[in-house]
Amino acid sequence: MFIVAPILRQNKISNNTQILQPRIFEAAANLTKNAKGKARMRESVDILIVNAEEMVTLAGSSQKPKIGKQMRELGIIHDGAIAIREGKIIAVGKTQDITKTFRGESMISAKGKTVLPGFVDAHTHLVFAGSCEDEFERLIGGASFMEVLNAGDAIFKTTKETRRTRVEKLVELGLERLDTMLAHGTTTVEAKSGYGLNTDDELRILEATKRINQLHCTNVIPTFMGAHAVPLDFKNSADDYVDMIVEETMPKVAERGLAEFCDVFCDRGMFNTEQAKHILRNGKKLGLIPKIHADYMSMLRGAEVGAEMDAASADHLNFASAEGIKAIAGKGVAPVLLPAGTFSLLMNRYADARSMIDGGLPVALGTDFNACNWVLNQQLVIALACHFMRMVPAEAITAATINAAHSIRRGSEVGSLEVGKRADVTILNAPNHRFLGYSFSVNLVEKVIANGRLVVDKEKRDEPVFMSKNE
Ligand SMILES: [Zn+2]
Repeated sequence: MFIVAPILRQNKISNNTQILQPRIFEAAANLTKNAKGKARMRESVDILIVNAEEMVTLAGSSQKPKIGKQMRELGIIHDGAIAIREGKIIAVGKTQDITKTFRGESMISAKGKTVLPGFVDAHTHLVFAGSCEDEFERLIGGASFMEVLNAGDAIFKTTKETRRTRVEKLVELGLERLDTMLAHGTTTVEAKSGYGLNTDDELRILEATKRINQLHCTNVIPTFMGAHAVPLDFKNSADDYVDMIVEETMPKVAERGLAEFCDVFCDRGMFNTEQAKHILRNGKKLGLIPKIHADYMSMLRGAEVGAEMDAASADHLNFASAEGIKAIAGKGVAPVLLPAGTFSLLMNRYADARSMIDGGLPVALGTDFNACNWVLNQQLVIALACHFMRMVPAEAITAATINAAHSIRRGSEVGSLEVGKRADVTILNAPNHRFLGYSFSVNLVEKVIANGRLVVDKEKRDEPVFMSKNE
């Protein structure tokens, strides 16, 4: 069992803080010998992880995502070590080299284990109230997602529920979900609004997201997605809804600095390509970087819209055309593939990851956590990518770390184990990285370090582990 301790709410910070001390097994002498045999002091760091069977660094791609065959090159160091100080990675290398220079206030042995960067989840709908288990049973019974949606359920049902939920409660829900994600190794999460579907409630969701990011050690990247679905009261006047979010909602989102990206669900029965372009173009004017839900349920040529708008990413792409894939490849738009969403909706057509990788696209992965896809675990997404999209584990790991980071413009900060990056590290109880994908029914995570602090530790069952950013 994992113990992820209760979230540290701000009012608990001062009086209830316990610092977790990881197992210290080496009474390390401070002295080491240099090349000439002279003793010198070793530099002190907060955490030193040593003896990793595989230290999966994914090094060398902080400026550009990995493409083609590079996606299988993980930069693995055998018997690897990593030194962490003040939230940053300060050295990565062989254990014998790193321990000559550094000594850890806390030492963690990763003997027999695999060490990876914390997972980056490039696509979630983190904040909403309610759930859709009824809808799932209707899908099992043969209904399509659009049939369920058109009956006023799924997104619409949870939107109603979200509208009547207090912001404090939305914050609590988001924090709980981030805890679960963290326990499964995810340390950076993109989070979309879209269960408000009017100005006030979209703003409330984004305010909640901002608060969640302040409280939780996970890195949360906010996206405005008022165009998640055409609300029922605009059923026959979708253009009016589009005008409303462009003229009224988006300026307020931008003015308050509540989102970095702007996303649109471009699909049959959702928003058409003209509406999508109108929203994304206006978002750009306000400084919101475009993203698009493209060709998920049908081929509407959303990928082409993503290319035309120079989107940071085009997501889903199950039905993307060959021209659409070519278009996004030409523009450097990241394909963010979401096999868990496909799995949850009982669809049998997955995105064609193989031809995208072979075509040189920087494939990324996300959970697509939402009310109709209750998946918070990037390890499962990696497994689905391997099973249904024929990605090999190395490719899927790249897609769930460094390439996911690039798709949300964080490639130079997270997604690999390199000097200067945020110290987000996951230690798996697995002898090598290929266990990811191959083993999929258990949580392999043994420890997680987020922003330089040990926040999940399977070995420490009873001690609280605090995860606030502000301590
Ligand atoms: Zn989505």
